[in-house]
Amino acid sequence: MVDRQTASDFFPLHPEALRDQSDASLWESVLAAEIHPLLCALALVTSDEAFIDPRFAPRVELPAEGPPPHWGLDDDLVDEARRLAFDRLRLLRDQGKTLTDDAEPPLLERTIEFAIGRDHGVSEGLIRRELDLPHDPSAPAWRLEEVAPDRRFHVAIIGAGMSGILVAHRLQQAGIDYTVFEKNADIGGTWYQNTYPGCRLDTPNFAYSYAFAQNPYWPSEFSEQRDILSFFKSLSAEFSITDRVRLNTEVLQAHYQNDAGLWTLRVQSQGGEIEALKFDAVVSSVGQLNLPKIPDIQGAEEFLGSAWHTARWNPEVSLKGKRVGVIGTGASAYQVVPAILSEVESLVIFQRNPPWMLPTPRYHERISDAHQCLLGSLPHYARWLRFFQVWATVRGRWDLVRVDHAHQHPVSVSAANEALRVVLAQHIEAHYADRPDLRQSQVPNYPPGAKRMLRDNGVWPAALKDPRVRVETRPISGICASGIEVGNEDHHPLDVIIYATGFRASEFLAPMEIVGLGGRKLHEWWDGEARAYLGMCMPGFPNFFCMYGPNTNLVVHGSLILFAESSADYIMQCLRALLIGKQRSMVVTDEAFQSFNEMIDRENALMAWGASSVSSWYKNDQGRVTQNWPLSIDAFFKMTEKPCLNDFEFMA
Ligand code: NAP
Repeated sequence: MVDRQTASDFFPLHPEALRDQSDASLWESVLAAEIHPLLCALALVTSDEAFIDPRFAPRVELPAEGPPPHWGLDDDLVDEARRLAFDRLRLLRDQGKTLTDDAEPPLLERTIEFAIGRDHGVSEGLIRRELDLPHDPSAPAWRLEEVAPDRRFHVAIIGAGMSGILVAHRLQQAGIDYTVFEKNADIGGTWYQNTYPGCRLDTPNFAYSYAFAQNPYWPSEFSEQRDILSFFKSLSAEFSITDRVRLNTEVLQAHYQNDAGLWTLRVQSQGGEIEALKFDAVVSSVGQLNLPKIPDIQGAEEFLGSAWHTARWNPEVSLKGKRVGVIGTGASAYQVVPAILSEVESLVIFQRNPPWMLPTPRYHERISDAHQCLLGSLPHYARWLRFFQVWATVRGRWDLVRVDHAHQHPVSVSAANEALRVVLAQHIEAHYADRPDLRQSQVPNYPPGAKRMLRDNGVWPAALKDPRVRVETRPISGICASGIEVGNEDHHPLDVIIYATGFRASEFLAPMEIVGLGGRKLHEWWDGEARAYLGMCMPGFPNFFCMYGPNTNLVVHGSLILFAESSADYIMQCLRALLIGKQRSMVVTDEAFQSFNEMIDRENALMAWGASSVSSWYKNDQGRVTQNWPLSIDAFFKMTEKPCLNDFEFMA
C-alpha cells in the first residue's frame, strides 16, 4: 500500500475557528488576504463560480519588481471582490457548515484557468504538483515488494537537510530501505548550520515548503532560520525519518565495487572507528553551500581578536561594545550587519562589490493575526496563496537577465536588463540622497542578475548610514594582530572579524572522496569543473545521484524546493526502472552527459551571470558557471518528468 498522508495530517486546518470571528475581525481578515487566493478558495469551498468571474482574473504581466499589487486588478474590482468574499465568509460562519478541501475536478479546472489562464505554456504536471492535486501527485505509486519482491535494496543518503529529508520520505513511501548520514549534530542542513543573527529566508516563504506538506502557519512572509529549521525537523519526525538519521556521522569515502555492484561507504561517527558499510545506491544531498570559504588573506593567523565565518557563528563571544569588521556584502552580510548593529561599538564593512537590491518593503513583516486566521481556517486558501507565490517565480526575472548580443552596454546585458538596472539604481540612489559617499559606492557596476539580488526594506541602507558604520571599499591588503589593513598604510583596529565571505560552492561533494567504476575518482575526473547530467548523474558513477548538484542552483526564479522535488521524483523513477528491469546498476552515458553539459554552457553564457566578469559564487576558478540553471523551471520539470532510459547503460 502506498503511504499517502495528506498535508493536512501534518498541518491540520481549523475551519471551526471561522465560527468564532466577529464581523469586524472577518473584514480585517479579508483586508489582510491576497485577493486571488481568497477568490479561488471561496470558489472551491462554495462551488460558486461568481468568485472566479473572469472580471476578477489576475493580469499576468510580471514587471521587474514581481507581480503588481493584486496582480494588476483595478482597485474598484478588488473592492468589489473583497465585499463578495466578506459576505460569503459571514454566511459560511453563520451556517456553521463543516468546510472541507474537497473540490469537484471540473470546478478545479475552471479555477486554475481563472488563476493562470489557458495559454501559459507551463506543464500541467508542474501546476498540479505545486497545487498538490490530487494530494502528493509525486508520491511513488509503486513499492519495492511489488516491483522486485525478492530484492533487498538499501540506499545511503548523505546529508539530512531539505533535500535529504525529501529523498528519505520518497524512499520510505516506496518501501525502500535507507540510512541517512549527517555530519552535524542535528537535522536541517543549511538551516542548522547558519545560526547567525538575522538569518532568514530571502525567497517567499509559502513557496519554500514541500508541495505535499504545505505549511499554512509560517509566522512571516520570509521566515527566520529557527522557524524553517523547526519545519524540517518536525516533518522529519512526522515522516519517521529522524530515527533513520545517523547524526554526527561523516561520510569520508564512497567507493563503487564493480564485482559486487555495490557502494562501500567509509563513515566515521564523532571520534569513533571508521566503519565500512555497503549500499545499493547513494544519493548525495550535501547541497552547494556547506563549505565555508575563508579567503586567504595575508597575516590572518596573527589576528589577536576573535574571528569566525557567518556559517560557524560563535555564540560564546559577545559583540557588546566591540569593534567589529564584516568582510563581504553578500546575502549573509546583508542579514547579519543590521542584526548586530545595536550591540557593537563600531562596525566596518569591507566591500568589494555592492549588491543589487530588490524593493521588498514587507521583508521583515510577520503574518498578521487577521491573515493567520484565514490561513489556518479557510480550506484551499493557503494552498492558493502558495501557488500564486510559485507562479510569480515560474518565469520570474529570467527575461530580464537574458543576454541580447545586439545590446551594447558596459553594465547591462539587454534592453530589459538595462531598464531594470535604471529602476534599481534610482531606488538605491534615493536611499542615499543625503550621503553622496554611499550613493557613489552602493550602485553596482555589473548587470542586475550577475550576482544574487537581495531584498530591500530599507534596513541595509539604514545600517550603512548609521554613525557607527563605515563602508570600506579599498581592497584589504592584510590582517595584522590588531585589525585589518587596507591600501598601503591604513588600518582598522578591530576586536572581532566576521567572514561573510560565502562558500566553496563549486567544490561539489568535497571533502568526500567518491570513487567510481575502474577507480575513477570524481574530483580528479572533474578537475575543478563539476558537471552532471541533469545535475544528478555522472558517467562512471553507477547508482550515484546528486540532489542540488552542479548547475541546479536557481537565481531569478522559483524556490530550490521545487527543483529538489523534481530531482527526487526523477531518482525514484530511475530506481524503479532499475528494479523492474532486474538490473544491478545504471550509469549515465558519456554522450548524454556531454550533450547536456554543452547545452548548459551555451545557455549559461547567455545569462547575466555567465556574460558578466564580476566575481560570484556561481562560477568556479576557471570562470565556468558550475552552479546555475540557465533555463526555465518548466524546462527542468520537463527534462526530469520521466527519465530517458536510453541515456543510461544498465548492468545486470
Ligand atoms: P556570497 O554571496 O558569496 O558573498 C560573499 C561576499 O564576500 C561577497 O560580497 C564577496 O565579494 C566577499 N568576499 C569574498 N572574498 C573576499 C575577500 N577576499 N575580500 C573581500 N571581500 C570578499 O556569500 P553569502 O553572502 O554567504 O551568500 C551565499 C549564498 O548563500 C547566497 O547567494 C544565497 O544563495 C545563500 N544565502 C541565502 C540566504 C537566505 O536566503 N536567507 C542567506 C544567506 C545566504 P564580491 O562580491 O566582490 O565577490
